[in-house]
Order: sequence, then structure tokens, then C-alpha cells
Amino acid sequence: MGSYRIGVLLGDDIGPEIVPQAVAVLGAAVESSPGLELQFVDMPIGAYAYETTGYTLPPGTLERLAELHGWILGPLGHAAYPRNDPNAINPHPIIRRHFDMYANIRPSRSLPGVKAMHDGVDLVIVRENNEGMQPDRNMHKGSGEFMPTPDIALSTRVITRKGSERIARAAFELARARGQARAASGQSHPCGVRARVSVVHKRTVFKLTCGLFVDTALEVAQQFPEVEVDDHHVDSFAMVLAMKPQRFDTIVVTNMFGDILSDLAAGLVGGLGLAPGLNVGDRYAMAQATHGSAPDIAGRNIANPYAIIVSAQMLLAWLGQRHADEAAVSAAQKIDQAIELALSQDGIRTADLGGSATTDQFGLAVIQRLCSRQ
Ligand code: NAD
Repeated sequence: MGSYRIGVLLGDDIGPEIVPQAVAVLGAAVESSPGLELQFVDMPIGAYAYETTGYTLPPGTLERLAELHGWILGPLGHAAYPRNDPNAINPHPIIRRHFDMYANIRPSRSLPGVKAMHDGVDLVIVRENNEGMQPDRNMHKGSGEFMPTPDIALSTRVITRKGSERIARAAFELARARGQARAASGQSHPCGVRARVSVVHKRTVFKLTCGLFVDTALEVAQQFPEVEVDDHHVDSFAMVLAMKPQRFDTIVVTNMFGDILSDLAAGLVGGLGLAPGLNVGDRYAMAQATHGSAPDIAGRNIANPYAIIVSAQMLLAWLGQRHADEAAVSAAQKIDQAIELALSQDGIRTADLGGSATTDQFGLAVIQRLCSRQ
């Protein structure tokens, strides 16, 4: 029987509106899943934590997170934090780095009845999370960005064999699992293959860094003969992704390219409100939507909670796989089906999808679908 302690960190702006919907959906899934127990542990973070403790990441947070099985992190409006206070840091890169969450899994898929630029999309971006261009996490000490003079600014890009090897392995394992799941349900991917990994890079220019990334990924590919592999230059890939996203299944990519491409992929299927994500390491996982804290719509109960609900669902599925816990896997599948039904049968739509449902109504529609299965 699976019993898990899940941290709940609301985040900023729309965070306190959307994260409780994800918690409520997980709670409802537990009700209909004998043998599954979830205990939620609230922890302050971000602007609220800064106001109440003087720190955006209060001391002791990392130690408390380490005692949990996983957690849900709401979006952080770090651009609005005080600039010159070292206690007002952006917490999420620190959390990702501290817990060695090297894989950022960001799916984009067409949803039933949701009008978007494309139909039939079912892809997932597997983004390296802890090195690359990101200066706030690619150094042991100090920053990957620096200014030797007031008129020169430099950024350092870090690509390692170890980082490339393990993100490639995560991508091939995911592609294989997606292929197996499709085969079991008698479905095929729109691109016509059982499973494929596309390695995205710019090795013509970044001969050493992208070269190491691609060569390492292609070495890993040899251990997965059941998964097809191809590789693309990031610029032409962006064009094909915009025009024919149905061609892609699983995409493995370095940190900054992956950050940009995953927002692009979200736009193809309906926008950032539909962009979930999971940060994964060997021991911990953190549910975190791709989008930011959306200060422009905060406090109005109109944000789309889909992305954070699906991120939490991905966390539950990950816990189920990691602990070989059928109840958790099955509860995650039920949430997936309930969301599909709320969208396709109940026609629930928040404002970003052209509807008038509130954040709460979206969450409630999913919960009602979950409860009606009992
Ligand atoms: P954003 O993702 O917050 O918003 C971009 C646009 O998408 C806005 O129009 C917003 O209203 C809309 N949007 C985002 N999420 C939505 C949702 N769930 N439902 C409906 N509409 C949604 O990006 P931004 O405006 O560039 O950044 C705002 C803040 O978030 C900044 O402080 C930024 O640094 C931060 N940020 C945080 C994360 C994170 O925590 N992972 C990621 C990106 C940006």
C-alpha cells in the first residue's frame, strides 16, 4: 500500500489559486483509490514567504523537502522580487539543483475539443535542467554570467558527458514507455512510428558543446534498438515544430533551447495554461507547470489550473512507477481520464481557452468526473 508525503508550495500570483485545485484533484483521486494515501505538507515559498520570514526560500526548506516523497511547486513571480536582497532569490533553480532534478519533462498534446493551431499533437520535450546556459545553476560556485568590464557581458554554457548521458537515457526510457503504452492500447503515434527520440542541437556552430550532447545521446540510443532516433538543428526544428508538430514524439534537448521550444510547443496546442511539467531526479520529483505566475490575471479566479493539475498527476504517476505501486499508477490514469472527460463531455473552458469557467469551476469539473467513477 502506497502512502506518500507531498509538499505543497503555492508560489506567487496565480499560484495560490491554481495549486489548491491540483491538491483537491489528488485528494479526490485518493478517495476513489483504495490502498493509496497522500499526506499534504504546506510550506511557504516566494513572495509570501519573503513577507512573513524575510526569505523567498526560508532556511530549513530544503531539509524539510528532503523528508518528502515529492512536491508541487506553484509558479514563482521572481522577476518582481527585490533585486538587491540576497534573501530574495529565485528558489526554483536552487531546488532543482539541490535535489539533482536533471530532467524537465514537458508534454504538449492536443486536447479533445480544445481549439488550437494544431490537432493530433502528442509530443514531450525532455529538457536538461541543471546545466547549459542557465547561469543560476550551471556553476558550482558563482554565476555562469559575469562582466569583466562595464561594457562586456559574458555567459558560459556548460555541457557535460554525464549530464548529456543521463538526460538522453531519461528521454529514451520515456519514449520506450510511451511506445509500449500506445501498443498496449492499440494506438499509434501520429508520426507513424512506435517510438522515436529527436535530438535537437546546433552542432554546426557549437561544435564542442552541442557535439558532445549529440554524440552522447546517439551512444545512448544504441542501447534502445526499439526506439528510432533522429537529430535536428534547433533553428530548422523550430520551423518544422511550428508547422508539423505531429511529426515529433519525444524530443531531447539542452536547457535553454528546451525552455524556449517547450513554450512554443505549448502555444501549438492552446497556450501556457495547457503546459504541465515534472522535474525529475533519481530520488525526487517536483510537479511544476511550464508557465510563470501570470501576474496580469492574478486574483481573479480565471487562471487555467490544467497545467498544474496535470503536473501533479505526472508526479503521482512517477511515484507509482518508482514504488511499483499499482494504486498510484491507476489513480494517475483516472485523473487523466477525468480531465479528458471534463474537457470533451462537459466542455469546461477557462478564459485562455475561450470559455468563461473560473479556476475553481475547472477543478470542480475534474473532481466531479473523478467522483462519478466510483
Ligand atoms: P507567464 O507564463 O506568467 O505569463 C505569460 C502569459 O501567459 C500571460 O499572459 C499569462 O496571463 C498567461 N498564462 C500563464 N499561465 C496561465 C494560466 N495558468 N492560465 C491562463 N493564462 C496563463 O510569463 P511572464 O509574464 O513572462 O512571467 C511572469 C512571472 O513569472 C515573472 O516573474 C517570471 O519571472 C515568472 N516565471 C516563473 C516561472 C516558473 O516559476 N517556472 C516560469 C516563467 C516565468
